[in-house]
Amino acid sequence: MKQITVFTLLLFIVFGATSQDKKALKFAKTITEKDLESRLAVLASDSLEGRETGERGQQMAAEYIASKFKEFGLEPPVDSKDGKSYFQTYPLQKMTYRTAYMKKGDEQKDNFEDFVYFSRSETKGEEYIDVIFAGDETIESLKTKDLEGKYVGITQADMSNWRQVLANLAEVKAAGVFLFVEDANSYDFVKQRFKRFLSGTRLSTVSDEVSNKVIIADTGLAEWIFGKKYAELSASEAPSRIILNADMLVEDIEVENVLGFLKGTDKPEEVLVVTSHYDHIGISSDGQVNNGADDDGSGTTTVLELAQAFATAAQKGSKPKRSILFMTVSGEEKGLLGSEYYTNNPVFPLENTVTNLNVDMVGRIDPDHEGKNEEYVYVIGADKLSQELHDLSEKVNKTYVNIDMDYTYNDENDPNRYYYRSDHYNFAKKDIPIIFYFNGTHADYHKPTDTIEKIRFDVMKKRADLVFFTAWELANRENRVKLK
Ligand SMILES: [Zn+2]
Repeated sequence: MKQITVFTLLLFIVFGATSQDKKALKFAKTITEKDLESRLAVLASDSLEGRETGERGQQMAAEYIASKFKEFGLEPPVDSKDGKSYFQTYPLQKMTYRTAYMKKGDEQKDNFEDFVYFSRSETKGEEYIDVIFAGDETIESLKTKDLEGKYVGITQADMSNWRQVLANLAEVKAAGVFLFVEDANSYDFVKQRFKRFLSGTRLSTVSDEVSNKVIIADTGLAEWIFGKKYAELSASEAPSRIILNADMLVEDIEVENVLGFLKGTDKPEEVLVVTSHYDHIGISSDGQVNNGADDDGSGTTTVLELAQAFATAAQKGSKPKRSILFMTVSGEEKGLLGSEYYTNNPVFPLENTVTNLNVDMVGRIDPDHEGKNEEYVYVIGADKLSQELHDLSEKVNKTYVNIDMDYTYNDENDPNRYYYRSDHYNFAKKDIPIIFYFNGTHADYHKPTDTIEKIRFDVMKKRADLVFFTAWELANRENRVKLK
């Protein structure tokens, strides 16, 4: 029995592997620890200044990636006024708060201390505003009224669903809305969060809609505005006049996604998209560079290595059957803006986009795996839209790489919700099957200490292999993976 099994296994090893498998194995060898390290040394260097979207370092990174795509022999796929380009440029608005305060008599209240000003519209210097107290009136009910030119204050019990609250407010047709939050902890959480999020500059997609001015505060601010205890305020309150000054600098800028294309032989119209984000969070207020070696220098380096491996294969006569788009996006750290732009303005039709493999942080070992099973990767989202993709991904791993695929963060109930937090999600929203590869978070996440010395190139190479073999299978198999 034993002998026969060994013999059968031997037969498989000698004759079982198809010619496709052998080719994949051959070209995976072009992905090396040395290459990964040398490319990451450029992307994570201090001279790239933390690659913040809209800043000089991001543009330098874009130039570097495009020069590599060109060197590998990938096609520039984007139409531009000077012919085909590696860059898909898109517009953003860059907003910087210069100041935001309120005044009543000689008393002043300041942004991020006494309230949070959340809006993309500014005042024209100091403006007198009249605030009406609407108390328990709901946002739903405010939406049905014409409050043009008016500022209304309503009671908000807590801000635990603040995303939804803010989204609803966009439809209120008033000059401004004050949310007086009753729950002190909840208000404090929002204040701290927005202080971080809105300080310095903020980028957002360009929108034509004129948004109202939103001021989030505690009930103490209402007492200051109306000069009464909150419990004594009612909807019959006379309007109170105060001064508001929200002065912002709004600039229109253009930033880039970087795209390199390899055309398929048999089904060139079907496209596999391999992504990472090359932007990071720039320079800290104390002047330290956030190098973002893991986030997401590691993923970007992986995409470059895959691009080189597939381009080399193509030059040696092994072109993929389907086309492959290698795309490194910007704007991820600002809210997945680059991938959002691409999926709303795709260069290749989304209905023929067969899968997105997204690589974001693959160079480190997280505390849960340190000193234990270090050859692992978190796999997220593979089974969400396509069981076939999940099965394929499992099989490829068993056949070629055999690392531990950790599904901890694939659980719908996991509070981290990583499935919604990187660029693949914009593809998933358009019903394109995705796999997100991730090493988990660590103490250096979004800190100046996310540096290249801490990268484990041995494990990173295995993860890059996994993405490569999965991409190879997806690009060369008979049928595209089915939605489940
Ligand atoms: Zn990231």
